[in-house]
Amino acid sequence: MSSTVPDLATATADYDALVARGMSLNLTRGKPSAAQLDLATPMLSLPGDRYKAQDGTDTRNYQGLQGLAELRAIFSEALDVPVRQLIAFGNSSLELMYDTVAHAMLSALPGARRRWVDEPRVAFLAPVPGYDRHFTLCERLDIELVPVPMTPEGPDMETVARLVADDPSVKGIWCVPKYSNPDGTVYSDETVRRLASMPAAAPDFRLMWDNAYAVHHLTDTPTRIADVLSLAAQAGNPDRPFVFGSTSKITFAGAGVGFLGGSPANVDWWLKRVVARTIGPDKVNHLRHALFLRDAEGLAEHMRRHREIIAPKFASVAQVLEENFADTPGVSWSDPAGGYFVTLTVPNGLASEVVRLAKDAGIALTPAGATHPYGKDPSDAVIRLAPTFPVLEEVREAMAGVAVCLRLALASRGSDGH
Ligand code: PLP
Repeated sequence: MSSTVPDLATATADYDALVARGMSLNLTRGKPSAAQLDLATPMLSLPGDRYKAQDGTDTRNYQGLQGLAELRAIFSEALDVPVRQLIAFGNSSLELMYDTVAHAMLSALPGARRRWVDEPRVAFLAPVPGYDRHFTLCERLDIELVPVPMTPEGPDMETVARLVADDPSVKGIWCVPKYSNPDGTVYSDETVRRLASMPAAAPDFRLMWDNAYAVHHLTDTPTRIADVLSLAAQAGNPDRPFVFGSTSKITFAGAGVGFLGGSPANVDWWLKRVVARTIGPDKVNHLRHALFLRDAEGLAEHMRRHREIIAPKFASVAQVLEENFADTPGVSWSDPAGGYFVTLTVPNGLASEVVRLAKDAGIALTPAGATHPYGKDPSDAVIRLAPTFPVLEEVREAMAGVAVCLRLALASRGSDGH
């Protein structure tokens, strides 16, 4: 079925038939499926009456702001953060990112001249396509977002290095260094080295290192990325990275554990600020996770079981796209080796039309533009596909429908003579 631009009459007839089916499918949600959540259901009966931590801490009581040591030990390797520099906290890494930026607004970061709220302008670089909630967080806190293009190696480092070196109001950059949301990019060692070592005009410039998909491999050769904390320390910038991660897509999304890592100075700074908002995290949940996952090998084994469930869904997305658009100019898609998303790139100006056609046919896609700051993709070319949540058959059906919509959008444009 591989084709270039289809003829309009056939594309329209296919689309009308699709609409007539009255489907209700959803490819918007970067959520684990019920089958994935089932993998962690035994955790719900933990810790039972084994509520004492290894060091004798009674997890039912206050105390232990940094989070349970045995859980931090399990995630230390995956996140490349020494146990003593890793915090295990609440149920979400996004809240840790928000807290970190909000604390930086209200208290000078290690190395900062002043609080960000006292700066005339605070800007963050946003590699695009990127994760919309990073953007929302910045918008909420009046931080300007400056888009930077992604390359297959990570953010375009020429642009990043120039902006960071020249402009002291650039205080941060969002990085999803492994299996990026949404295009699956893995940062090369050279990109990580440059991010860790490049000169920065702002003494309090930070890498917001969101390693959300650290262990979420889709192949049997887990990808490794360079150790940003060590590289930054070696380059004389120990306080530059804030590392984030969570078990949201390992155990339960919304009832997992978020992690924050950094230099000893950053960790100390953060813990001293957070005591104003909580006496400490939910250690019972930490213990439940530690007992269930056991160790780094237990974590890896658990992630292999996730992969068995979701890899076929990613394969199905790739298969439908390959069958329909292998030879279509301007249409391409990512082939992620991990993470939760596929990025479909369509000819400029067609993304929102494809999303609209899909919606009218009962297939919900992430709004075009969501992958860019302020919801504006200037090329209107990027569509984020999230295949994990629906069952495999639904992924197939939804993707077949997306192909029909894209064929119609391409044919309509072709007939307009554009
Ligand atoms: N970071 C990225 C890159 C994500 O894709 C997501 C969820 O989709 C999150 C963070 C949210 O993580 P959490 O549930 O730990 O807040």
